[in-house]
Amino acid sequence: MPELPEVETVRRTLAPHVIGRTFTKADVKHVPMVRPHTPSEFSKALAGQTVNTINRLGKYLIFELDTLALIVHLRMEGKFFLGDKNAPVRSHEHVRYHFNDGGSLIYDDVRKFGTHTLKPLATHRETPPLSTLGLEPGDPMLDVDYLISKLTTTRTIKSALLDQSIILGLGNIYVDEVCFCAKIRPTTRAHRLTKTSVHRLIECATSVIAHAVALGGSSIRSYTDSLGVSGRFQNELNVHLREGEPCLVCGETIKKIRVAGRGTYYCRRCQKA
Ligand SMILES: [Zn+2]
Repeated sequence: MPELPEVETVRRTLAPHVIGRTFTKADVKHVPMVRPHTPSEFSKALAGQTVNTINRLGKYLIFELDTLALIVHLRMEGKFFLGDKNAPVRSHEHVRYHFNDGGSLIYDDVRKFGTHTLKPLATHRETPPLSTLGLEPGDPMLDVDYLISKLTTTRTIKSALLDQSIILGLGNIYVDEVCFCAKIRPTTRAHRLTKTSVHRLIECATSVIAHAVALGGSSIRSYTDSLGVSGRFQNELNVHLREGEPCLVCGETIKKIRVAGRGTYYCRRCQKA
């Protein structure tokens, strides 16, 4: 599943190919993907709109158009491909955006969970889904006081870190890596963390994500980003997917358990309960 670093790689990869191009229409083959719009409303609204920039907030890609924001979430398996006029229909193609130069931007999604939403450009950050999102690692507002105010519940730190309304953009892979870096066991109850641990957690979230972005994200499982670029971060995972292998710090065997419904990897010596 693409996480923040992978979505950032998709953004950086797509930007030079689509900025400055103008949509004429969109063919929507999977109707629920563009809800609450109907396919014809969606297509008509896009006509004549130029892509001025592509931003990202957490795992959302935001195509800023003349008067609209096209907000795309790739969910599990979403991918973009660029096509020319005669690009053959892909087997999992669900939306094809047409440009006035004859080219196209094709959205392919094996699982069909991706979402494509249009919002007025001026207010798109003030309404859901973007208005409900927490702070990104690296945001100066994400400090110890902020995080402690959000970690008041008895749920596990793993579950709290997966919650996009607290910290934005950490998925299953990076939460495991961040907990390992911060020496916190993923099953620890969120409200029991000390100020020092919370400080370490913020530093680790920032450094793990920055490092992953620099390497282009992970490409675990079936995810590959648009245009054939794949990330190298998968070579640098310290705990995630390393069950039974020795901890890179202490040599203890990495354990796999289920926390918050997700496969979770940790070192029981480095990450004390
Ligand atoms: Zn260890």
